[in-house]
Amino acid sequence: MEGIAKLSGLFRESRSTVVFTGAGVSTESGLPDFRSRTGLWQGVDPMALASIEAWRRRPNEFFTFYRQRLSGLQGARPNHAHLILARLEAAGMVRAILTQNIDGLHQEAGHRSVIELHGSLRQALCLACDRRYASEILLENDLPSCKACGKPLKPDVVLFGEALPAAAWDLAVRESCSCDLFVVVGSSLAVSPANHLPALALEHGSKLAIVNLERTHLDPQASVVVSSPAGEVFIELSRELLSEATA
Ligand code: NAD
Repeated sequence: MEGIAKLSGLFRESRSTVVFTGAGVSTESGLPDFRSRTGLWQGVDPMALASIEAWRRRPNEFFTFYRQRLSGLQGARPNHAHLILARLEAAGMVRAILTQNIDGLHQEAGHRSVIELHGSLRQALCLACDRRYASEILLENDLPSCKACGKPLKPDVVLFGEALPAAAWDLAVRESCSCDLFVVVGSSLAVSPANHLPALALEHGSKLAIVNLERTHLDPQASVVVSSPAGEVFIELSRELLSEATA
């Protein structure tokens, strides 16, 4: 596979590798991404559905969309990319995952250091009293409400129109400024401000590697671009990097 030898060389040389993941790392687990031809946004206006405005003003439409995503999540399992990234972390070859994903699959794969930039669909949040619940509560009623204060619940994810969680963002900035290899896996790098992190890493002297099926605006600045499915890429990488551990 083109680029694998170069990518494994970068992992070997690096003393501090941070991996930035997007929806593309989970498509092989059966979860559609947003912007591919088969993605969730095809024929849909994101601002009309996944926005704080939609949650407030069009809750029925909002929850129909999110309940579909929640049911999809229930059958989803980590794929080779999630599992091998967790093994690379255990082997000391990945320091942290910065993920835009809300599916919790890195944690399910056993990854310990996961920074969730866009929250988690595994939880529901009451904005009024700050209580959190397991997300099953969102499936109980058409318009789910907080058991403590009765106010409407929302999925604990960052919607369009909301700020990123400050603590997660600060940590992600720190990781990006202090790594020497920043690896993008399965992201179009189209969503701001998360997509500023790879540029920040480059500015601070890190090398950049990109594993993504489609081109991104940062491809020209990457030391290597691997345009193959992430699961296959990480199986190949594990042969190169983890063969001693598995022998
Ligand atoms: P995106 O849809 O904009 O981009 C995904 C990229 O992944 C595309 O460029 C596509 O070519 C690539 N891709 C798809 N399958 C791949 C594979 N098997 N191997 C390698 N690359 C593959 O997604 P994004 O950049 O993450 O940004 C958009 C938003 O998507 C984020 O805010 C995130 O919260 C949200 N999202 C998350 C999930 C999830 O949690 N699983 C699912 C859909 C969307």
